[in-house]
Amino acid sequence: MNQSPLLPPSSPGWTPLARGEHDSDAINRCPGGHIHLDYGNFTVRFQRDEFLAFARMVAMAAARLTGDVRPGPTVPLQFKPSTTISLN
Ligand SMILES: [Zn+2]
Repeated sequence: MNQSPLLPPSSPGWTPLARGEHDSDAINRCPGGHIHLDYGNFTVRFQRDEFLAFARMVAMAAARLTGDVRPGPTVPLQFKPSTTISLN
């Protein structure tokens, strides 16, 4: 398999969670437990709960764009400033 050097899922301790439509797009859990969202030329590192809140927000936006809005959990969305964003 031809993997981008940005994508470490075959490294020990890394867990691949999802891959995007482009080779550089992926979501992996690192050995330290962070969720790494690699998208294009940037990476966002989340704590687990921060990532889950972010994922709910993205899912809601996608549902509204497609008109597929369904009743969902009423968990408040949180995007904490401790999240790290970096350019690759
Ligand atoms: Zn990490």
